[in-house]
Amino acid sequence: MSRKVIIAGNWKMNKTVEESIALAQDVAKEVSSVQDVTVVVCPPYTSLYAVSQVLKGSNVKLGAQDVYFETAGAYTGKISISMLQSCNVEYVILGHSEPRQFFGETDELVNKKVKVVLAAGMTPIICVGELLEEREAGTTEKVCETQIRGCYADVSAADAAKTVIAYEPVWAIGTGKVATPEQAQDVHAYIRKLLADMYDTDTASKIQIQYGGSMKPDNAKELLGKEDVDGGLIGGASLVAEQFKGIVIPA
Ligand code: PEP
Repeated sequence: MSRKVIIAGNWKMNKTVEESIALAQDVAKEVSSVQDVTVVVCPPYTSLYAVSQVLKGSNVKLGAQDVYFETAGAYTGKISISMLQSCNVEYVILGHSEPRQFFGETDELVNKKVKVVLAAGMTPIICVGELLEEREAGTTEKVCETQIRGCYADVSAADAAKTVIAYEPVWAIGTGKVATPEQAQDVHAYIRKLLADMYDTDTASKIQIQYGGSMKPDNAKELLGKEDVDGGLIGGASLVAEQFKGIVIPA
């Protein structure tokens, strides 16, 4: 089955409202002719509404970097799904290695958020991936399996088919050390087989699996050329419109 490529930019804790508007305008212009790739930008919460206005009528979709699973109430500092909906958000990154590492994100929490995002008709981008010591210990597949089983607990096949997974080896995130296309393909193929075991081959074949970790214009083509690599989750290179374009439309 041919899956549409999806390239998402994770701006992390970068860009003021004004800077976000400027970057979103540049990205929308750079990729305006693109039809065969789904392009998503994920600004910080404070810029979501302003960026949604910039993206109106463009072919760039809006994503958020997280959400809280409760609907409303005394959860100081958190953002609900209806708040994201009111900013026209369509994608939500969940389980990124930074919140896992710094803010106590767990598979159990991600699982609750996945359900909230799906119930709202939005698309979760579920991040998984191993630490360097886990790769060196040969436990990459086991780590990804535990994360995926935890994040998809009690998620139906019909709902799972609407999700996106980002395989992001933690040692490659923001380090300039990119996985080889073969390393990425091996893990992506493993993840797809796992999804087929958990659900069925049809469901597994529908789930887009992005690679994330120092993807840049000069390595994107080879990575995206691999059979099970269906896109990219981009950090650093998503902050410069020309570089992001160079990944969406690799030369
Ligand atoms: C990320 O944070 O998801 C990421 C892949 O970052 P970078 O592209 O900078 O490695």
